[in-house]
This record gives sequence, C-alpha cells and structure tokens, in this order.
Amino acid sequence: MNENKNRHEFLSQSGKVITACAQLGALSPTSYAAQSTVKSGKVNNAFKITDKHYYLDNVLLESGFVFEDKVVVHTLTELKTLEINNGKIVALHEKQLNQNNALPRYDAGGKLMLPAMRDMHIHLDKTFYGGPWRAPNRPEGTTIRDMIKLEQKLLSELQPYIQERAEKLIDLIQSKGTTIVRSHCNVEPTSGLKNLETLQTVLTRHQSSLTCEIVAFPQHGLLLSKSEDLMREAMQMGAHYVGGLDPTNVDGSMEKSLDAMFLIALDYGKGVDIHLHESNSAGMAAMNYMLETVEKTPQLKGKLTISHAFVLATLNEQQVDEIAERMAAQKVAVASTVPIGTLHMPLKQLRDKGVVVMTGTDSVIDHWSPYGLGDMLEKANLYAQLYIRPNEYTLSRALAIATGDVLPLNDKGEQMWPKVLDDASFVLVDASCSAEAVARISPRIATFHRGEMVWGSVGKVG
Ligand SMILES: [Zn+2]
Repeated sequence: MNENKNRHEFLSQSGKVITACAQLGALSPTSYAAQSTVKSGKVNNAFKITDKHYYLDNVLLESGFVFEDKVVVHTLTELKTLEINNGKIVALHEKQLNQNNALPRYDAGGKLMLPAMRDMHIHLDKTFYGGPWRAPNRPEGTTIRDMIKLEQKLLSELQPYIQERAEKLIDLIQSKGTTIVRSHCNVEPTSGLKNLETLQTVLTRHQSSLTCEIVAFPQHGLLLSKSEDLMREAMQMGAHYVGGLDPTNVDGSMEKSLDAMFLIALDYGKGVDIHLHESNSAGMAAMNYMLETVEKTPQLKGKLTISHAFVLATLNEQQVDEIAERMAAQKVAVASTVPIGTLHMPLKQLRDKGVVVMTGTDSVIDHWSPYGLGDMLEKANLYAQLYIRPNEYTLSRALAIATGDVLPLNDKGEQMWPKVLDDASFVLVDASCSAEAVARISPRIATFHRGEMVWGSVGKVG
C-alpha cells in the first residue's frame, strides 16, 4: 500500500479518521488526532465492525513479568485471538486454532490490548473545543466568584453549540481510548436544565459507544445561585450524582451548603461529586465535615467523590495518612486532574492508603484552562512523572489511574485481564507493554466499547 496515496486520500476526506486499506502501524490514525478536532467520520465501511459475533486475531496480551533478583525487568506478552459476542469477550483462543470459519475475522495487527480508559471528570456541556481557538482570560487574582460572573454572560453564547461540541469532545476522548466517562453538567439559573437536556440527547445517541454518568453541577453556587430546586429537578431527570462547589468561598456557609447537597443526594438515593478547590482552612473544615457526615450516614458510604481536593496538597505526611484512613474506610474517592506546578497532590500516598483515586480531563479547552488533551494515558504518564521512579514495574502500575484500577497483570505478574465474559471494552495501542504505553503515551489504534469498534481501524481477514 502506498503511504503517500493514503495520506492524499486522508487529506481529501478533510480530516476524517483514516482507515482505507491502511496497513496497521504504517499510518497511525492518531497521527491525525492533533488536529483541532477529530471528525465523526469513524471507520471506513470496509473495516467497520458491525458484527455482533466475530474474531479479533493477533491481539497482544500481557502474560507475566520477567524477574531478575526479584526485580521486574520485562513484561511478557502473547498473541491471542479474541472471540467477541454480544459485547462480551466469550473466548480467548490460541491463534486461529479450531475456530468457526463462518465467523467474520478481523486483525488487530499485533497491537497491545489495554483496558478501556476512564475519564472521570470532564465537562462535556461547556467547552470551546470544536469551535475557534480562544484563550482563557483569568488575570491573577481572579476569584471563583469573578468566574461565575463571567459564566453568567458566556453560557448563553455557548449554549447553541453544546450538542455539536459535546459530540466532538466525545470523538476526541474515544480516539484516546476512553469510553467510560463521568461528566459534570451545569445546572444553575443561567443554564436552567437546558445543558442537561442537551447532554442527555447527545448521550442517548452514543449509548452503545459510551457509558457516561452525569453530575448535576451547581457551578454558580448551590445556595448562592439558589439552585436547589433545579438540582432536584435534575435528579428527577436522571442525573446520577449531586454536584457541589466550594461551600465557604462560594456559598459563604459551609455547613448549610454541604447539608443541602447531601440532603438532595439522600432524598433521591444518588451519590455526591463535589468540586472542592478551597485549599485553606475552609477547605480542611469542609473535608472534615463531609467525612463526619458520611461516617454517621451509612447510606453515603462509597457514594462521595471529592473532585480536586486541593487542600490535601497543603497537609503534611502524617495529616494525609490520617485523613486517607478515614476516606478509605468510608470509600470516599478523589477525582484529580493530576495537577503540575506548585500544588503537589499526595495522590500516591492516598492510593497507598487505599483511597480510590480517579483521574479526568476537566477542561479540554474552555474559559478555565486551554491545556486539556482528553487523554487518560497522558494522565497516567503525568502521574508516573510526578510520583514514581520509573521502571518496568512502577510504570506498568501507573496505568491504573487511567483505567479505574483494571490492569492486565496484578502486582505479582499474574494475568488478571481480560477474562472470559468481561465486557469487550478496550483500546488497541501501538506499544509492546503497559510500561511502554505509559512512558511513551503510545498511539492508539482502535477503541472498542462492549464489542463495538467506536473509533479507529483494524484489518479484515479474508
Ligand atoms: Zn470540573
């Protein structure tokens, strides 16, 4: 296959994801993902998998660690044929042996299979992505209340584009291997329930290709903007989590704000996912109050996520240990973008203490930040750069933050994933093992969600 010809065909399709006859690896789809958006072109019909029951040959799976003096020096892999039926991996065959010749057969080209990536904090309803370049404008000293005022003007400007841009954002994250998502969605008097309605419409269209929970987010302050009734309506409309925001700095009444948030969650049997940016004593007081509330309210155990939780970066090691133990006991999770700079979150210490730490994009590009790539493998790489001494073992473990702690190998090197009857939700990566994928942020080749290829391309056999 002539690569120049492919390139020409690609360009003539004005940015559609390339597939036609592309030799896998010779022309990686991801080399085009650096464009301002990834188009919804999806795969060429020739290689689009529409079958429910099929084989995927030449899938590279991790099978163990090689140890030298008890130190992991290498990751072993093996090529397998996956049999996928009705969204599940129903068998892992030795290569092409004793199989049903009537089934369609595709070729993963020896690419590494990794678990589906999970973006657990994104704002699909509020983005500049997919529109013209626009830098944020947050001069030093801009407060969160200033940003709320800015939003009250900006949101009506963005509203006509919510659907189009959410679609493009979904295309972007799928091109990075993400198909499991938790999206915050503005619910406040400026947007009303419009953002939620629109996002739900988009997600309905993507229900076979993306699993997305929604957090109703009172971005302008639950109490400050008098959003409680709207939040209750959002719960009735099917939002999965009650959101919240800086109860002292924004709402001016920490206990009242948090009580109102938890009450909505309890009334509707939902979880809570709060944006807590406060990094001073107010932030600590809010953390303690939330933990106390969960400790005395068994229905909230395992149902609280604290997004950002910047105050944890201000604690010493012993203080982190103490609060981490309480969080782990109540299964309180942290969702972090893995921030870089002066704020060093104790993410590894939290994980080591048993706290669930998830990561997410937050802003891809919007009035808060222009830097998001929508790539959870990049977040695993950031985590590795900030928290570990890189070697084969630690790099392979760092992948966990991107995949909801699903890893191909356990700490001893035993194969844990995929197993027969697991969801066929995974990403094919141009890497030899997890450690390389994390260190090099390796190109993604194809993304599958419950058996459906939702992005990229594979070869067809026969
Ligand atoms: Zn956020």
